[in-house]
Order: sequence, then C-alpha cells, then structure tokens
Amino acid sequence: KEAKNKMPTYKGLEQFKLVEKMGDGAFSNVYKAIDLRTNQKVAVKVVRKFELSASQRANILKEVQIMRGINHPSIVKLLSFSESQEHYFLVLELMEGGELFHQIVKLTYLSENLARHVILQVAQGIRYLHEERGVVHRDIKPENLLFERIPVLPSQNPVSKQFEEDKEDEGEFVPGVGGGGIGRVKIADFGLSKVVWDEQTMTPCGTVGYTAPEIVKDERYSKSVDMWALGCVLYTLLCGFPPFYDESINVLTEKVARGYYTFLSPWWDPISSSAKDLIAHLLCVDPAQRYSIDEFLNHPWCKAQPAPPPPPT
Ligand code: ADP
Ligand code: MG
Repeated sequence: KEAKNKMPTYKGLEQFKLVEKMGDGAFSNVYKAIDLRTNQKVAVKVVRKFELSASQRANILKEVQIMRGINHPSIVKLLSFSESQEHYFLVLELMEGGELFHQIVKLTYLSENLARHVILQVAQGIRYLHEERGVVHRDIKPENLLFERIPVLPSQNPVSKQFEEDKEDEGEFVPGVGGGGIGRVKIADFGLSKVVWDEQTMTPCGTVGYTAPEIVKDERYSKSVDMWALGCVLYTLLCGFPPFYDESINVLTEKVARGYYTFLSPWWDPISSSAKDLIAHLLCVDPAQRYSIDEFLNHPWCKAQPAPPPPPT
C-alpha cells in the first residue's frame, strides 16, 4: 500500500498513472500502469537514456523496431513507444501473472501435461519468430516468459488438478475457487533480439555474396540458441531446477560448454523417456545437430495428448 504513494513521476508519461513496480533491470523499470485516456491497464517499461551507451540506445530502438513487426498470441505486444529527453517509454500489453520464474520454478515443478501446455505456447511464439519473421530472440529464459494472469497451479489449489484432465481448457484462465488453469504464457524482452533472415526471401540479411563463411554459418546457427534455451526451460519446468548449475561460475561455464547435465535421480525417475529424448535433442552441444523449432514441434512428446480422465467409479 505504501509503495503506491512512492510511485515516481516521469516527464512525458503524464498520460499514464503508475500503479506498482513489476520488474526492474539494469537500465529499466517496468510498471503496471493505467492509460488515463482509455482506462486500459498496461505495462510501461521506462528506460533511462543517460546510462546507456550509443550502441545500447540503438539496441532499444532495434527492440522497438522488431516488436512493431510482431503480432502473435504468444508474444507480448508493444502498444506504443515514445521518448522524452531522459527516458524511453515502451507501453506493453500487461502480463499480470508475472514471470514464469516466480510462479513456478521457485515453488515446484509441473506435470508433463502442464509443462507441455506451457512449453508449446512458448514454442509457437518461437516458431513464429524464426519461420515467419526471421527473428532470433536470444534471451529466452524464465524471467522473460510471462503469465497473462496469475496462474492457479495444482500444487497450490487441489481443486485445479481438474485442469490436467480438462482438454477443453486451452489456456483459459478461470478465476475463483473451483476454477483453475495456468493460462497464457508469452515471450517478452526483445532487448537482445536480432533479425537474421530477410522476411521476403528467407535468406541471410545483408549482401550474401561478400559475407564471410563464419558470418553465414553464424546466421544459420543463430536460431539454435533459442532452441538450447527452450531445452533449458523445459528441463526446469519438469523438475524444478535448471539443467546446468554450479556455485562457481567457472565450473558452470565449463559444464555448459561441454553440455554436461544429467537427469538426476530421484526427480527424473518418474518422467517419461519421451520427454528426456526431446530434451537431449535440444541440450545438444553441436548446433547443427540440435533440433530446429519444427523438429521440436513434431516430436512425439509434443504431439501427445493428455491422458483421458479415469472412468467413473
Ligand atoms: P530487461 O531488459 O531489463 O530484462 P524486460 O523487458 O525483461 O527488461 O523487463 C524486466 C522485467 O519486468 C521482466 O522480467 C518482468 O518481470 C517485468 N515485465 C516486463 N514486461 C512486462 C509486461 N508486459 N507485463 C508485466 N511485467 C513485465
Ligand atoms: Mg528481461
């Protein structure tokens, strides 16, 4: 309650009433806000210009440029963009449920059916970016995957265990006791994203004829960074901890470089071999061998239907 009185005001943002802080990064704060002209609830990402280098400023403008061209249910929409002398303002579709990270990863893990429900939404967003927009996100992680509504997890609400059997529920959030569901998940934060393919021709950007082989290869493999990250997210959803972790950053770096991870017992014992097979094709060190988004979506684990409800007794 107190925080509400302490909301900052920004010159150039008079159209919006800031309600609460939803997140902060190195150079930005994200607020829940109300557009006073429409009464619409939105999120506003406020970026401090003066702390940015020229190339970082250019990156914000690139983030805006890329987001403007994007329209998909699994991707957070940019509603408008403006700037003042001191700030950039990105007005975004509000994701009230906050980070996947906060809602799930720290609390618990998901059943395979629920994990599939979440990861397929993320994967559809990635498929759209990779195949239709020629965009690589490059920063897929639980902090950048946001819930449209506060999800009701089976672990927190026994009633919503129903959800797992409810094939009708395609991500609809049903508020109140007796309802359940995990709702829509969307990809946010295009701060590191990059256009790698020309949208019309589906060829690498720039003049190919004079491009060095390492650049051409780089562009070809750049999509695969999102697939690695997708594998890390899926692994984490299924067991509640990440595939690569060490207290020492040097050891961690070495583990990642070698692709050294395990399906740790007892956590992974009950998880299907199909899920493990899929993860193994994503957490694959050689980017040429790693699954593409279409290979991911065509894997049997992604195609599997949730188990039918048990017969009445
Ligand atoms: P950064 O580049 O600083 O990581 P992000 O765009 O990822 O910036 O935003 C930082 C955090 O703010 C996110 O991790 C999330 O918690 C929150 N956030 C960002 N966009 C939204 C949104 N549209 N709705 C709700 N929260 C958001
Ligand atoms: Mg982020």
